[in-house]
Amino acid sequence: MKTLSPDTRAALRSRTRLVHAGREPFEQHGFVNTPVYRGSTVLYESVENLSRHNARFTYGTKGTPTTEALERAWTEIAGAAGTVLTPSGLAAITVAFLAVVKAGDHILVTDAAYRPIRTFCDSVLRRLGVETTYYDPALGGDVAGLFRPETSLVFVEAPGSQSLDMQDVPAIVAAAHARDIPVMMDNTWATSLMFPAHKYGVDLVVEAGTKYLSGHSDLLLGVTSANARYWPQLRATFDAFAMCAGPEDVFLALRGLRTMELRLREAERQGLAMAHWLKARPEVARVLHPALPEHPGHAIWQRDFTGSSGLFSVILKPCGSEALAAMLDGLELFGLGYSWGGYESLVVPFDCAPYRSATTWAPGGPALRFSIGLENVEDLQEDLDRGFARLKAA
Ligand SMILES: *Cc1c(COP(=O)(O)O)cnc(C)c1O
Repeated sequence: MKTLSPDTRAALRSRTRLVHAGREPFEQHGFVNTPVYRGSTVLYESVENLSRHNARFTYGTKGTPTTEALERAWTEIAGAAGTVLTPSGLAAITVAFLAVVKAGDHILVTDAAYRPIRTFCDSVLRRLGVETTYYDPALGGDVAGLFRPETSLVFVEAPGSQSLDMQDVPAIVAAAHARDIPVMMDNTWATSLMFPAHKYGVDLVVEAGTKYLSGHSDLLLGVTSANARYWPQLRATFDAFAMCAGPEDVFLALRGLRTMELRLREAERQGLAMAHWLKARPEVARVLHPALPEHPGHAIWQRDFTGSSGLFSVILKPCGSEALAAMLDGLELFGLGYSWGGYESLVVPFDCAPYRSATTWAPGGPALRFSIGLENVEDLQEDLDRGFARLKAA
């Protein structure tokens, strides 16, 4: 194995890229993987080198060979100018916000955004003098009607990670760029493997590496990439906070990266099988999955995305809360918990009504979000089958 030539590297297909990106075996005695570098202090050989500040590594908060391996790999996979790694997905988003906003600014955030983002906007950003308007995710390019002279960011998440609302990202990017406003996207659902957001013009792309990059529910990590225009200010803001991720988590994420496409494609296949099975159940009113033709955002998903992940939601026909609890409490295979993207299946009830402000959430029955893992779908179906029997009996 030789170091890849730039031409070979540029032509790699996605699975080969995931195998080779960010690896330099001959920089570590031929061992295949970059090891965990733990460290704060980095030593210099001379006063001259110390004062020049031009060493590859200078201090633990600024990066180690372990973090650099994942940053480089992600930059290549996302088609970005650079990447920073933070201790959680939420930290990735807050640092990216602070890289572009200043006091007096106005920002637009999709009403379907991951809920803790609203808490950040309504508390910290408000205190810093930044005003947030939540907008209907269905607006597409019409989001331009909400622009003000001081609007400095449009934040999108497609599909929303509870309600699965799709967004017309290219139309939003065109509208925002016409006014020189940057667009930031939470791309955790599709990842850059199924929606190459930078190619669609998104300036800052955030993913919770906690989900499919990790894939094993054993770490927290945020990954933010930026295009050339926004990379210097993202890196400078990240350095100002020293919001660095732990080396053990980054090592595990590098391990997850190598199998990420295989796990995502399997999650897609299993998720679709479960979505179709649930759609046929008499207890289910609707399945919210953008790859199903009846989903209102299906045409956009089909145009822009190259696949779907294992996360989707269902709306049950009206039933009592005790009946729903009887169904969920007795599940033997599905875990009841937040987060998603691991190898194990999860289900969680949710309600967007208390926090939506630009749209109303009234689905007409209880909502459940499923994250489908790698079990045999027949076993998952039998677990839910017994659950539906409990729901009916209660
Ligand atoms: C989980 C999640 C996050 C936050 O990631 P953490 O690592 O849990 O902080 C952000 N956005 C979406 C869509 C998520 O699902």
